[in-house]
Amino acid sequence: MVTIRPGVPAIHFAFSELQQSVRTAIEKICARFGDDYWLKRDSDGEFPEEFYRACAADGWLGVCIPQAFGGSGLGVSEAAVMMQAVTASGAGLSGASAIHMNIFGLNPVVVYGTEEQKRRMLPPVAAGKEKACFAVTEPNAGLETAKLQTRAERRGDVYVISGAKIWISTAQVADKMLILTRTAPATAGDKPTAGLSLFYTALDRRYVEVREIEKMGRKAVDSNQVFIDGLPVPAEDRIGEDGRGFEYILHGLNPERILVAAEAIGLGRAALARATAYAKERVVFGRPIGQNQAIQHPLAECWMELEAAELMMLKAAWQYDNGMACGPAANAAKYLAAEAGFKACQTAVATHGGYGYAKEYHVERYFREIMIPKLAPVSPQLILCFIAERVLGLPKSY
Ligand SMILES: Cc1cc2nc3c(=O)[nH]c(=O)nc-3n(C[C@H](O)[C@H](O)[C@H](O)COP(=O)(O)OP(=O)(O)OC[C@H]3O[C@@H](n4cnc5c(N)ncnc54)[C@H](O)[C@@H]3O)c2cc1C
Repeated sequence: MVTIRPGVPAIHFAFSELQQSVRTAIEKICARFGDDYWLKRDSDGEFPEEFYRACAADGWLGVCIPQAFGGSGLGVSEAAVMMQAVTASGAGLSGASAIHMNIFGLNPVVVYGTEEQKRRMLPPVAAGKEKACFAVTEPNAGLETAKLQTRAERRGDVYVISGAKIWISTAQVADKMLILTRTAPATAGDKPTAGLSLFYTALDRRYVEVREIEKMGRKAVDSNQVFIDGLPVPAEDRIGEDGRGFEYILHGLNPERILVAAEAIGLGRAALARATAYAKERVVFGRPIGQNQAIQHPLAECWMELEAAELMMLKAAWQYDNGMACGPAANAAKYLAAEAGFKACQTAVATHGGYGYAKEYHVERYFREIMIPKLAPVSPQLILCFIAERVLGLPKSY
């Protein structure tokens, strides 16, 4: 027996009034930042500060932060509608990643923080006064989080953090970081992920060197190597109990997969819209290219696959917001959305022929950006392993 929010039918395919109003409001903001704005950010690599400020000014950065701490207290479903509208506008991952961390990144503080921490940490993020980054991945650990080596050593009321992280997005512009570190060896607990602790603390550049990674796409939102050398962190910046950081991070992983799925679907839709418009306009051999089935059918497939991925994503969001287990749906949504988004972006480039390779048609930018939801925050292979083991009950393969 499942419990659902009062007044919400168990199967309901229409957006609520609230969700529609979220989408309309976000579309209105995004309309001020056209494709040329994003193309420029993609070439100059500047953080899209104007877009970030516009979202902050209308209160959207705190969409999932409780009202008591400066946010709107809405669900992941509404945040997914929002992020999908951002990428679908043509802002793509450049737009979504600029605000992604504000939207759900501080969930561990919302769920496991003390009252004092929530009061101190959440309002500046909801208001867009502070930017945060999320520092988990390490060069020597990859997807095997239990192998994290960055250490936080307790010295009285202070922890001292040293180590190296990689791929940390927005670390060039962030004021704060949510960082997972080792406070005890993996052998200290009953699981290898025991002994990891979570901190939300100032990114003090006197102790932290941030080196940008030149990457394939999304140049406007930096990703970095981060070297930490003796960063002092007050004990009151530790979230929850010592050694239980991995559990806290896990809690936020499913909603993050849902949001990434929403972002991939939106970007896929942006690509599909451009491809369809081009297929109607471009005349070769005396007819629009879109009159050829070899052009039509891949576009029709993309539409169907994006729709199907969206249903899975909304199911996962609905499960999460209603307090149900959503791991299988959230993982499946992220996988399916990334695949569907990727196919749509690739098809959009192909539909444009040679022009698909030119920056002014924008689809090559989408194509580069759609690789991110394919690769991160978890790879497609590990999602398949999760479904095989946890849903189908097959033996663990690694
Ligand atoms: C643009 C970008 C932004 C990012 N931003 C952040 C961020 O802000 N914060 C952060 O902490 N991290 C961030 N990441 C890191 C991202 O989450 C990792 O890249 C991702 O988790 C994969 O880790 P890895 O690259 O070390 O892959 P690895 O762990 O080295 O894996 C490499 C490949 O081997 C495969 N593989 C490994 N083991 C198995 C197995 N047992 N079975 C099958 N296949 C296997 C994987 O699926 C993958 O395809 C970002 C990455 C990118 C590209």
